[in-house]
Amino acid sequence: MPADVSQFPAPDDTGGEPVRLPGGIRSLKELAARAAGRPSAPQPEEDAGFAEPLAFPFAAIVGQQEMKLGLLLAVINPAVGGALLFGARGTAKTTAVRALADLLPKVPRSLCFYGCLPEDIEQGGIDAVCPDCARKYAEGEPLAVMDRVRLVELPLHAPLDDVLGRPDARNPHRIRKGILALADRNILYVDEVNLLDHAVADAILDAAAQGHYTVRRGALAATYRSHFVLIGSMNPEEGALRPQILDRFGLRLWVQGLQKPAERLEAYRRARAYREHPRQFLARYAEETAALRAEIQEARQRLPEVGVADEVAALGLQWIARLGIPSLRAEITLFEAARARAAADGRTEVTPDDLREVAPLALRFRHSAFMASYARQRADEDARLGKIIQAA
Ligand SMILES: [Zn+2]
Repeated sequence: MPADVSQFPAPDDTGGEPVRLPGGIRSLKELAARAAGRPSAPQPEEDAGFAEPLAFPFAAIVGQQEMKLGLLLAVINPAVGGALLFGARGTAKTTAVRALADLLPKVPRSLCFYGCLPEDIEQGGIDAVCPDCARKYAEGEPLAVMDRVRLVELPLHAPLDDVLGRPDARNPHRIRKGILALADRNILYVDEVNLLDHAVADAILDAAAQGHYTVRRGALAATYRSHFVLIGSMNPEEGALRPQILDRFGLRLWVQGLQKPAERLEAYRRARAYREHPRQFLARYAEETAALRAEIQEARQRLPEVGVADEVAALGLQWIARLGIPSLRAEITLFEAARARAAADGRTEVTPDDLREVAPLALRFRHSAFMASYARQRADEDARLGKIIQAA
């Protein structure tokens, strides 16, 4: 009976996500037909994509050059420190981030509960993996499979235990992986990062900075890898971001609505074509998508050879001094983004033009008027103090 319908996920009222039904059933009508014992008509291929929604192709996003450049730099060089997208609703922020995962080369994914990887043995010897994986390694069995990079989206109100990991209800001697562990070697997307619970935001930023984290629950403890590219987004109309969180994001990408009517029309046409025939639409961009993927791969391979000459670095440091930016993360992001830019362009030296292109993305929202005036007050006070002490 279709009474079971109540337990299925409700349609999402915020996006165009289809209702996902189990057992390969594609519609409530079909479910009802099946329950009544009536065979249903076969569906065309492009209507059957419920298992894994097809992301809108990155290459099909109209305009938004800065956002696209910034996201690509963030995935070419993780040392950039991820990216934060600022913009109003409906400016393709989430679409772009979802499309990004499709552009990344596959990564090794552990087959073991403890997350052991062959590289652990290469770095730390056979004791660096669990006994089961040590046996597998000795017998020549694979410890990992190559898997595509996924986009892990953090739900806004996720409890800290879901983010870090919690004791397994079925096996109290184990801790279940949290969202941060699942995000390892993936992209972690935090929409509305300005509305995030403070403890959750701190946990994410610590795990992102260290590349691993430890969960302790009573006598249990577990350490997980958490190498991920962190992408946040926020609508400044809905609240400010704490300065210490803002500081931890590398690139700051300003995402505006499309200005030109012709661009808006083109964006509408593509969105409609994608909605109506997603597979055909993806096929239209398959070549561009493959080319982008290859470029990212090549840029990542070239990156270790890319250097920043002292005189080029001096130019960037001069801008930072003139802007009065205190955080050392400013130059890290500036130089690392410029290195990614050079690598993407097939070069091994950062030029002043690379710096100029990425500087707004790396340096905006870094100056604090409060800290600058606070520092001036301290300097004035110290000067007064100095005079009084000298005069005595
Ligand atoms: Zn293992």
